[in-house]
Amino acid sequence: MQSINQSIALPILTKKKISLVIKRDDTLHPHISGNKYRKLKYNIARAKKEKYQTLLTFGGAFSNHIAATAAAGKIYGFKTIGVIRGLEIAEKWSENPTLQFAFEQGMRFKFISRADYREKEEDVFQDKLRTEFGLFFCIPEGGTNADAIQGCEEILTKEDVKFDTVCCAVGTGGTLAGISNSAANHQQVLGFPALKGDFLREDIRKFAKKENWSLVTDYHFGGYGKVSENLVHFINTFKEKTKIPLDPIYTGKMVFGILEMIKKDHFCPQTKILMIHSGGLQGIAGMNTMLKKKNLPLLTI
Ligand SMILES: *Cc1c(COP(=O)(O)O)cnc(C)c1O
Repeated sequence: MQSINQSIALPILTKKKISLVIKRDDTLHPHISGNKYRKLKYNIARAKKEKYQTLLTFGGAFSNHIAATAAAGKIYGFKTIGVIRGLEIAEKWSENPTLQFAFEQGMRFKFISRADYREKEEDVFQDKLRTEFGLFFCIPEGGTNADAIQGCEEILTKEDVKFDTVCCAVGTGGTLAGISNSAANHQQVLGFPALKGDFLREDIRKFAKKENWSLVTDYHFGGYGKVSENLVHFINTFKEKTKIPLDPIYTGKMVFGILEMIKKDHFCPQTKILMIHSGGLQGIAGMNTMLKKKNLPLLTI
């Protein structure tokens, strides 16, 4: 399954003689958006083949991966369990659009403390989960494992070889690793982390086989899930001008960063850039409930 590449027309691109194209992986599936579709594809296939009936995974309360796993479970006939970070969410999860959606897809939740969440990959914790839930196919946080990387290697197609630079948003780095593995030799891959921290490069090296990638760490806007009024304004204006919706956690920050870099002449004239729209639009509703509480401008839907 492939999504379309769409050219961006903006005065700054004409001025700087840059060609900017976006791959609309956000349109791959109505509920399993973007890179989560790519990452779940071979995990689901393996779980089916090994005759599991339940998928269990981890995430925060606004997680695209939780929403996608819940939807995939419903479509492909698995029970799903979401282990959610933050005990405090337990009382108010029904106000959270992501969890509400996941619940409607049949996902059931286990809310755990942030301390427990840090230990979630440890044997002791995994054993506890198996005692509680029986046999399950475990998908790691963010969905990143070798099967997920294989799925992300399918993001780039033969036609995409014409691009010089490929850009993607980075959470765990699985998507970046997949793109890096399948990029052509002349292509440079730029990852835009949506979170602060230096641990990412090590993680990405576990899955990326080539040295063709680097991280642009200037556009996380204060960390994971953090947004500024400026970013909200940028996403709304970008949508007005291009009709393309961006999510506030990942793709909004990436596109902001790419356009800033173009303004600052980071790319030579005639450079052809492909950016990946990795989805995440389900997160807009949740972000808006937070922005509303803080009396900040909302994202247009
Ligand atoms: C999860 C997600 C990412 C990050 O993907 P990783 O493979 O974890 O780096 C990027 N964009 C969107 C929209 C996502 O939902």
